[in-house]
Amino acid sequence: MMTESEWDNITEGKMRRVICFDLWGTLVMSLVQRTYEDYLADYWPRELIQKTVRDLLMTDAWIRSPLRQHDGQGILRPDHLRTAAMLLTRLRSIQSPEKTVFLNDHNWNVFDRTTTEFAELLLETVRLWKRENELVKWIPMAREVVEALKAADEKLVLVTNTTDFGIGEVDRVLRLREIFPHTWASCAYPFAKPDRRVWRFIMEHSPDADQYWMIGNDPITDIAVPAAMGWKTILVNHPEGVPISEVPRIIKESK
Ligand SMILES: [Mg+2]
Repeated sequence: MMTESEWDNITEGKMRRVICFDLWGTLVMSLVQRTYEDYLADYWPRELIQKTVRDLLMTDAWIRSPLRQHDGQGILRPDHLRTAAMLLTRLRSIQSPEKTVFLNDHNWNVFDRTTTEFAELLLETVRLWKRENELVKWIPMAREVVEALKAADEKLVLVTNTTDFGIGEVDRVLRLREIFPHTWASCAYPFAKPDRRVWRFIMEHSPDADQYWMIGNDPITDIAVPAAMGWKTILVNHPEGVPISEVPRIIKESK
C-alpha cells in the first residue's frame, strides 16, 4: 500500500492525467475452471470464436444485426440467452476454411437451430458464460490501486471490450461504476480495442489532459496502439509486464 506522503507527492503541482484501465485480466478475473470459450472450442477454432464475439457482440453491431430481438418495450437489452444464440447462429453460418477439421459434415448438420443439440449447446454456453461473469473478483491489489488513484483525484476511465450483459453483470457484482464514473464500453460503439478510434475518442472527450495513460494486460489489444499514439502505457499481469501494485509508483515517477 502507498503511504499518504507518497500520494501527496503525486497530487502536488497537479498534472492533469487521464488514466485508463482495461478490465478483464487487468483489474478482474473469473474463478471458473472452464469458460464458454473452452466449451465452444470443441466445435470452432478459438480465434474464430474470439473474433466473432469481439466484432459482433462486443461492438454495437448487435444492434444492427438481423438476429436482434427487442424486449417488447422498444429497448434492446441483449441478455445472456439472446447473446449466446446470436453467437452460435453466427458461428454456424461462417464458412471457415478449417471447417472440416473441427466440424465434419455430420456435426455441421446437427447445428440446426431447430434441433435439441442446438438447444443443449446454447444452454450450456449460456450457463458457462453467465457463471464466468457472476464469479468475477478483483485481482489482488487492483482495487487498492484504483481506489488510491481515485482518492488522489486522478481521472480514471475504464476502457473495456465487453458485451452489454457482461459489463452489467460485473458492475452488479463489483459495483464498478462507483469507482469508474467514466466507462468506455465497446458494446455501445461501432469499434473495439485495438481500433485506434477507442483512444482517439477518449482524447476528444478529455482534451485538456497533460498526459494519457493506458494500463492493460494485453500487449496487442491494450498497449501497442495507444503507445504508438504517444500515450504512456503500462503492461501488467503479463510475463513481460509489472505487477499492478507498481502502477502508482510508475505514474508518479513519470515526467
Ligand atoms: Mg484484458
